[in-house]
Amino acid sequence: MTHLPPLVTRQHAWPVTLEKPLSNQQSPFKGGESSGLAHIKEYFTSQHPQTYKETRNALDTWHHSTKLSPWLAQGSVSVRFVLDELIKHEQQFGANESTYWIFFELLWREYFHWNALKLGTTLFNFSGIKERKPLTSFYPQRFRAWCEGNTPNAAVNACMKQLNATGYLSNRGRQWVASYLVNEMRIDWRYGAAYFEQQLLDYDVASNWGNWQYLGGVGADPRGLRHFNLEKQVQMYDPDSEFIKRWAGKSQMTHLDTVDAADWPIMRH
Ligand SMILES: Cc1cc2nc3c(=O)[nH]c(=O)nc-3n(C[C@H](O)[C@H](O)[C@H](O)COP(=O)(O)OP(=O)(O)OC[C@H]3O[C@@H](n4cnc5c(N)ncnc54)[C@H](O)[C@@H]3O)c2cc1C
Repeated sequence: MTHLPPLVTRQHAWPVTLEKPLSNQQSPFKGGESSGLAHIKEYFTSQHPQTYKETRNALDTWHHSTKLSPWLAQGSVSVRFVLDELIKHEQQFGANESTYWIFFELLWREYFHWNALKLGTTLFNFSGIKERKPLTSFYPQRFRAWCEGNTPNAAVNACMKQLNATGYLSNRGRQWVASYLVNEMRIDWRYGAAYFEQQLLDYDVASNWGNWQYLGGVGADPRGLRHFNLEKQVQMYDPDSEFIKRWAGKSQMTHLDTVDAADWPIMRH
């Protein structure tokens, strides 16, 4: 992969709207085992796991999902320890669908790890585990616009700006930007995966490349291509455009390209 734009510097800015008061200049993710353990304790002694299933798709708030991924990806904490704390939480506050769902999501992680072991280098194949290659290619200008959060789609831009500033992006946001890259921009999914590899604090070979294979339509997904209707998704998950405004998602871009096939500038409306 030689075409990745230079690393966009993380400013460690985090939205001030988090329930947990944080300095605007400070990342809420602090590396290492002791801060990972402290985070797990704090999360599982709170009521947040009780509503995880309803809140896990939120785009931008701290307690709406576990935020365990960076510590798990770095190996600072183990899944077994997380599960022990989850069980203790269930004993103290009760087990419900939400607490089960945390376990269920950790199973996805497990699945992707075994999947990577099984696939070996096939994990990085353009055609994944399928026979046919996707009808996508590499468009440097489009790819740069995607990386920088400067596409015609405000939700995608907001997500990419959040990723660039913090090294984190919600699961929903990851699915949106991946779907947009593959289905609207028609870019080879591996460039998206490589950019995530560069930017994510929780980068993990198996989870990243496995999820990207799914979104690229070349993974072991019985549902086939995951093409998100972003307009509908925004209505559901950001109806008042709060997330888009917070991350300045609106851009001047009205087209995917600024020149046409014959290299003529495309007129803006
Ligand atoms: C395109 C794409 C790329 C991704 N790349 C990574 C990556 O590099 N590293 C990574 O840890 N996760 C990755 N994920 C999965 C998921 O988005 C993150 O694990 C999750 O958003 C992290 O936030 P959380 O800890 O609050 O998750 P929660 O919703 O609280 O989930 C709890 C834990 O379950 C695991 N988990 C949840 N969803 C998934 C999933 N779809 N696949 C694998 N494990 C999951 C994670 O370990 C997570 O910490 C990716 C998803 C997509 C769609």
